[in-house]
Amino acid sequence: MRSCLICESDQLRSFFEGRIRMGSFGKLSESPQTVTECARCGARYLPPLMDDVGGYYRDGAYRDDLDQGNAIEKYFELTDDDQPYRLDILGPHTVRGRRVADVGCGAGPFLDLVKGSASGTIAIEPNEAYHDSLRERGHLVFGSVESLLSAGEAPADIAVSFSVLEHVENPREFLVGIRQLLRPDGRLLISTPNANDYMLELCPEYRSFFYRKVHLWYFTASALTRLANLSGFSRCDVQFKHRFDLSNALLWLRDKRPSGLGNIPLNVHLNNSWRDFLESSGGSDYLYAILQA
Ligand SMILES: [Zn+2]
Repeated sequence: MRSCLICESDQLRSFFEGRIRMGSFGKLSESPQTVTECARCGARYLPPLMDDVGGYYRDGAYRDDLDQGNAIEKYFELTDDDQPYRLDILGPHTVRGRRVADVGCGAGPFLDLVKGSASGTIAIEPNEAYHDSLRERGHLVFGSVESLLSAGEAPADIAVSFSVLEHVENPREFLVGIRQLLRPDGRLLISTPNANDYMLELCPEYRSFFYRKVHLWYFTASALTRLANLSGFSRCDVQFKHRFDLSNALLWLRDKRPSGLGNIPLNVHLNNSWRDFLESSGGSDYLYAILQA
């Protein structure tokens, strides 16, 4: 890439060089890879290691790399518990009577959660392995934003897109497309990993876990806001959210590997303080943002 796909600046500098994660924990690239940072918009970029990014998601190779497979039950097992948290960030009362689109919905756990109160639910998912099941559960299904737009579908009031932005080839085109499927006063809730995740500073071994083949883009809060504005959204309110406890950080420092949650029993106040510290200092592992069309 000679210039930034988001802001077109040609001032790109090397930000990270090293081996990166190729799939689940422990699978590292054979050679070091370079993540660049755009001096103008701040987005960080890892050039794709797959030949065809779109095909990689359509045919399920993506989930195979993560050892997750395409089984729907497995998908729900891994993701169902996250959905009420996401709805809480969006604000549950905002969904009733609205048309909700989920861009990159996977098997559709968020749409299942809001279906009872939303006036319509639209599933946009490139992996066709989920399509029949999504239809059976009553969602309108499209393989891409482009196919929805060309079908002349009525606009959505609310769009959500969780952990998708970092995977796409061109985030600006991606957000411009979502804006087109929204009503003029519509809103988009988006989530993506935080490029300023504090663990990157605290534990150097975490870097080769954080930077990964499947994530082409890494955003700080300011880079995400800039992207939103360049994509035509009038407003972008970012929230820092941390999903892990202090036990997870301590075990990264001791064992240099992910451990899940709660493997060192700690006082709940200590865990809450750790989370509060990261979320108030901008060092959380995740960013959520509400974008106004
Ligand atoms: Zn840029």
